[in-house]
Order: sequence, then structure tokens, then C-alpha cells
Amino acid sequence: MGVMELTNAMSRLAVPAGAGRAVRVRRGAHVRVIDVEGGQVGDVFAFSAADSGEYLSASHTRTSTGRLFPRVGEQFMTNRRRPILTLVGDTSPGVHDMLIAACDPARYRALGAEQHASCAENLRNALAQMGVSTDIVPQPVNVFMNIPVDASGDLSWLASVSRPGDAVTFEAAMDCTIVVSACPMDLNAINGVRPTELAIAITAANPISPEEV
Ligand SMILES: [Zn+2]
Repeated sequence: MGVMELTNAMSRLAVPAGAGRAVRVRRGAHVRVIDVEGGQVGDVFAFSAADSGEYLSASHTRTSTGRLFPRVGEQFMTNRRRPILTLVGDTSPGVHDMLIAACDPARYRALGAEQHASCAENLRNALAQMGVSTDIVPQPVNVFMNIPVDASGDLSWLASVSRPGDAVTFEAAMDCTIVVSACPMDLNAINGVRPTELAIAITAANPISPEEV
């Protein structure tokens, strides 16, 4: 199945290695993405529940925050420059990426793999299960992905440094559909030895004290 409708209590959903899952949450819900075994990249996407033409945009977010990746307390913005998620917690070493496109069939073909699962296909399939159809594959928020930028502007694809159980927590700033893909990349170092599972934990929109944020 892998589909979770609007939830009113704490729920947890496994994202199997190499696969994607979608959840639909109300404004105020907390969505935690957990790296179960450690060292696993998650591609995170978010679409407005009201209009799938409005979605989390990495470039609009960078414009808003003036950073490559938000700090805890800062917001991810949509292509219409409205907040869609707030980063409210991070127990990992804080190494994430917001520069690299989702892997897709063409990326794997270029690496010599004709048939290969991809985050782009995972996104399409997970959205289809929620009844959302779009051809857009936004540039994702790549949690736990380790892409350092050196002083000359060069990028490196390094193994994730997140540890077992590390988690990033987002608060929904609008009703939205969030997709998490446990990146199936196994042709470079980003997922360490092999792709592994992630988990999504949702705490629904109960009143949240400012101290918790
Ligand atoms: Zn991927």
C-alpha cells in the first residue's frame, strides 16, 4: 500500500530500501524522516494539497534563507515563495544536500544500468497512489546526503555520515503531500555499502508549544 491519509495520531510508515512512500498531512503536523540503519539518503518532496502545481522548490528556499540548506527553525519555500515546511529538528550530524537532482532512469542509463529503480520514478508512483498526477520532478531536499562544496566550487559525492536512528523533523506549514524516497543509488558512494530503508513518523497537528519548536 504505502499510502497514508490525513492522520490524527502518531503513525509510522516504513520506506523500504530503494522505494518511495507518500503521506498527506495537515498544516502543523510533524513529519520525521528516520535513517533506520544509518548512511541512507532520502529524497524528500512536498506538494501543496490544494494545488500540485505548488511544490517545495530548492532554489526558492535558498533565495529565502541565503543558505545551501536551512538551519533548524528555517523554512522551505514553494515555487510561489510560500513556506511549505519548517525544519524543526535534526538529530543527525546535519549533513544534507539541496543541490542535486533526483536520480532518474536517464541518470542510471548514463551509468550503464538500463533497468534501475530511481527517486524520480518513486516520486511518480507514490504520488499516483495518492491520486496526484504531475510530470514535475522538483529538485529534492536530499536528507542525509553528503555533497560537500569546496572553495573552488567543486562538488564531491561522499558517503552519508548519518547514524542509525538519526532523524530530521519537518513541520508542515500548509496542508501538503510529502514524498520520501529511500534513494536506490548503488553505483556511487552516497548510500555507503548498500541502499537501506528509511521510516516516516507523523505526529498530527495537535497544539504545539513554542518550546517544542
Ligand atoms: Zn535517488
